[in-house]
Amino acid sequence: MTTSEPTNLLGLSRAELKTLFTELGEKPFRAEQVMKWIHQRGVIDFDSMTDISKKLREQLKSATRISLPKVIAEYPSEDGSCKWIIEVASGSRVEMVFIPEAGRGTLCVSSQAGCSLDCSFCATGKQGFDSNLSAAEIVGQLWIANEKLGAFSPEQKRGISNVVMMGMGEPLLNFDNVMAAISVMMDDCAYGLSKRKVTISTSGVVPAIRRLKEHTDASIAVSLHAPNDQLRSEIMPINNRYPIAELLAAVREYMDSLPDRRVPVIEYTLIKGVNDHRQHARELAELLRDFPCKINLIPFNPFSLSDFQRPSSTSVSNFRHILQEAGFTVTVRTTRADDIGAACGQLVGDIADRTRRSERHLANAGKSGRNTANLAVSADS
Ligand code: SF4
Repeated sequence: MTTSEPTNLLGLSRAELKTLFTELGEKPFRAEQVMKWIHQRGVIDFDSMTDISKKLREQLKSATRISLPKVIAEYPSEDGSCKWIIEVASGSRVEMVFIPEAGRGTLCVSSQAGCSLDCSFCATGKQGFDSNLSAAEIVGQLWIANEKLGAFSPEQKRGISNVVMMGMGEPLLNFDNVMAAISVMMDDCAYGLSKRKVTISTSGVVPAIRRLKEHTDASIAVSLHAPNDQLRSEIMPINNRYPIAELLAAVREYMDSLPDRRVPVIEYTLIKGVNDHRQHARELAELLRDFPCKINLIPFNPFSLSDFQRPSSTSVSNFRHILQEAGFTVTVRTTRADDIGAACGQLVGDIADRTRRSERHLANAGKSGRNTANLAVSADS
């Protein structure tokens, strides 16, 4: 924990805080006090932590800090959703999105600035990779959203009840920081979110999925998006490294390690003429026949750097019907926050950042001769 900069307490787990207080010659229970001040009361000024001695507060001020990412812009949507752009220490800008629903408030959290995995239907993937977010920058998104929503105020307005690691980046390629952040999110002295209310969404980093059970019991969602290896490799290059059978085996192993009966969510973005044919639905049903899961269908959200198109509502309902007939629980994600560019797959950071990184991405794509135009292989159902 020793760095050239004072340690940022925002991203420290309870165990790490206890170590820090022990090193300062204090009792470990100070960790719980400080966690409650920061994450439950929203206090980031040491002088306001009134149950901590003045001497210790001075020590904390000189040896540590509580720093949040800077909020650059806020975009409220007509549907009640809200997108915030924040600036992280690397200078990159990333996005986080609040989605209110009946009885819950979900925050879609980013784990990286940009992403190296280059899924062809994803705006973040078009940017290339900039940097990993620190644990404090990941937890900071939850703190900021709660503060903006008034959850720290004495009236305790509605705050965040669910977190999905589905913002910018592949969470399992920033494994240590994501695990540390999740442990704070789930700590009863911090946000106290249950394992069912924190979801890690992965494109399929198999070795990291195999390590998950040693670190967390959070829920998991798998970005599948195709029913066979050939098509998946075309739209998700990571499939060349970790094909579907290996991915599903790793997810099954993780689910089997959990004491309760939870199932993963299979995310399937429906792209017109690419993966939305009835035959794809039948193939998907066959693939997942013995794999307990829920399936979430996401009609593609178009963005400027992609030629892909949203499927017709008939295609979506046909696809859903085939899966339901095969016995699956299927949801169709309603497009939220489309007016502010915060729908699924649209998160790109700020405009300047987007332009700079998109240019770099397109230059690289040109070098590799990659062409996604040939993906439009099937007719609308
Ligand atoms: S879908 Fe996820 S893993 Fe794929 S490029 Fe986008 S952010 Fe990265």
